Amino acid sequence: MNIQNELKKLGISNTQELLFYFPYRYEDFSNVVKISDIHEGDQISIKAVVKDIKALNGFYGRVARAEAVISDDTGSLKAVWFNQPYIAKYISKGDEVFLAGRVRFYKTLQLQNPIYEKISAYFDEQIHTARIIPVYKLAGNLSLRTLRGEMYRALDQLPLIKEYLPAKMVAELGLMDIQTMVKNAHFPDSLELLEQAKRRLAFEEIFYAQLAIQKHKNEIEKEKARAIPFNRELVQEFIADLPFELTVDQKKALWEILQDMQHELPMNRLLEGDVGSGKTMVAFISALEALKNGLQVAMLCPTEILAQQHYNNAIKYFKKHPQISLMLLTSKKALVNGKPTTKNNLIAEIGHGGPQFIISTHAVLQKNVDFSELALVIIDEQHRFGVRQRAALKRKHKDLHPHLLSMTATPIPRTLKLALFGDLQISQIINGPAGRKTTVTKLVQPDARNLAYEFIAKQIEQGRQAFVVTPLIEESDKLGVKAATAEVENLKKVFPKFNVGLLHGKMKAADKEQIMQDFLAQKIDILVSTSVIEVGVDVPNASVMVIEGADRFGLAQLHQFRGRVGRAEHQSYCFLFTDNINEKTLERLDLFTKTNNGFELAEIDLKNRGFGNIFGEEQSGFYYFKYFSLQFDQDLIKKAQTWAEKILAEDPKLKEHPEMLSKIEDKVIHLE
Ligand code: ADP
Ligand code: MG
Repeated sequence: MNIQNELKKLGISNTQELLFYFPYRYEDFSNVVKISDIHEGDQISIKAVVKDIKALNGFYGRVARAEAVISDDTGSLKAVWFNQPYIAKYISKGDEVFLAGRVRFYKTLQLQNPIYEKISAYFDEQIHTARIIPVYKLAGNLSLRTLRGEMYRALDQLPLIKEYLPAKMVAELGLMDIQTMVKNAHFPDSLELLEQAKRRLAFEEIFYAQLAIQKHKNEIEKEKARAIPFNRELVQEFIADLPFELTVDQKKALWEILQDMQHELPMNRLLEGDVGSGKTMVAFISALEALKNGLQVAMLCPTEILAQQHYNNAIKYFKKHPQISLMLLTSKKALVNGKPTTKNNLIAEIGHGGPQFIISTHAVLQKNVDFSELALVIIDEQHRFGVRQRAALKRKHKDLHPHLLSMTATPIPRTLKLALFGDLQISQIINGPAGRKTTVTKLVQPDARNLAYEFIAKQIEQGRQAFVVTPLIEESDKLGVKAATAEVENLKKVFPKFNVGLLHGKMKAADKEQIMQDFLAQKIDILVSTSVIEVGVDVPNASVMVIEGADRFGLAQLHQFRGRVGRAEHQSYCFLFTDNINEKTLERLDLFTKTNNGFELAEIDLKNRGFGNIFGEEQSGFYYFKYFSLQFDQDLIKKAQTWAEKILAEDPKLKEHPEMLSKIEDKVIHLE
């Protein structure tokens, strides 16, 4: 094995990069004890001599293994390595070793699969045992042992790493200096030093986020967009024709957007509102204003099906405005005013301009579409569409910036907004359309599962449909959570009369599309899916949401699942299933059944679990806040903000801070 090549698979091509490849977790084996002092359950290291070791082959259902007896001056202890008989080749009778692990009891106290390390065979201190040890994400053929060894050796190069934060900042914030930080992030000398290293890493994350956000904000302020006059009559007429009254919050959001678009300063606004709160209509009316000025509007959707759904609605709502061209552009379809055309024709037309409302998946728009006069970009349900794509759109648009309206159903806690969305104006739809019934939410005890199934059957017999969300795809799912595939088989038995469909992230886009279409067309009664289901799709006929392994999801995420039902006049139900009867878990889920406010739930999640867990991994876009998410700290945000302002005030382009510039260039795209 060529270690260099293996390291490259982790994106590491030099010592510097190696040293900045930090562990994702640690194990504390710093408690070195005597054999006579061990107790079941203790996580410990033992320094001992190997009295005996042998490899045992697997036979008659027994697992192949290595077994050893070790002893120190206080007693002796058994150690077993299951499925690793070869350990007996690495450790020999008479060796002095450290063993690290958790003490188990099986007939007698023993160590099962302990980490072993011969006394300072290569290094002047232990690196796998008898300390807090780093655990890294691996790739290729690299083993944790090898990587740890490489890392330890690389620490010799620490003196070459120069501090890149201003000395004043480090001092004022009481941050660990860079070299001490790197050392302790890998091989912490104590838990306290590890915390300090993490604090610095957390600070850096939030600081660079602030720097990126503020720099972006400063830049936007210098750019120009087309000012779109607010045509009150037009808007009033359009609203009067709607089959419903706009809600107060919709009107307020619309007002804020239309005000923004009147200015030459490009709008950069986030419209936040629960699933079903009516964001689309707000977006449509905003689009109308620009379209009536003869300009183009692009609406970018995360999935084809969502694009199609919006397109169908646009055709319905813009009927009275035949001069507007309604275009659908996805990888499969090109439509103008409901009629098929070729993609090339459509793209050519977009190049010529005019009042065109282009509804598209964003994958399509990024590639080869050249707008003539793009005045407004609407992004539906997408965080990851950020600065870089925005810049790409701008280039296509030559000199003017489009106004930007992004929409999300993710409830972002107030406390986080400041940190993550400082460059965005925010509009909120807090109260959705009246008349909808609150979804009844129940935590179902394991023994009441059948009752719940009977209830679901009744709903389906009344013509409704159900969603079932499961946490993982594969049946080999180690965590023991019911996988979607297994769940389909199970539900087919439970509901032999009904059609059960499956949707998961590994399916081809076209297959997913088909399943969603079938569900919409009621060819499927129960749709089982992993947590990565299409966001925002409207299936008004669905009235039941079942969430398996509910304890594995954040409250805000559960809330989003729940939002998929209750989108029409039918009374809807959300059932949470869990096998985890831990008191805290039950309390958390119970709280969910009683709270219908997504913002509140997100805020609770933030307090309890840090924000890494609020959003599902798939849609988070926040994942680079590795350390910050672990120890959310409002004070740290404020300090990061102040410092970012200070540095940008003196050096707006970060010419004096090239390292900072390089750090934010590849990070900023995750922020919107
Ligand atoms: P989301 O905020 O999730 O994007 P949608 O815009 O898809 O929500 O709206 C959900 C449903 O509510 C749609 O069928 C839409 O026509 C309807 N709707 C929107 N606004 C109102 C309103 N003010 N009153 C009643 N129904 C509305
Ligand atoms: Mg929507």
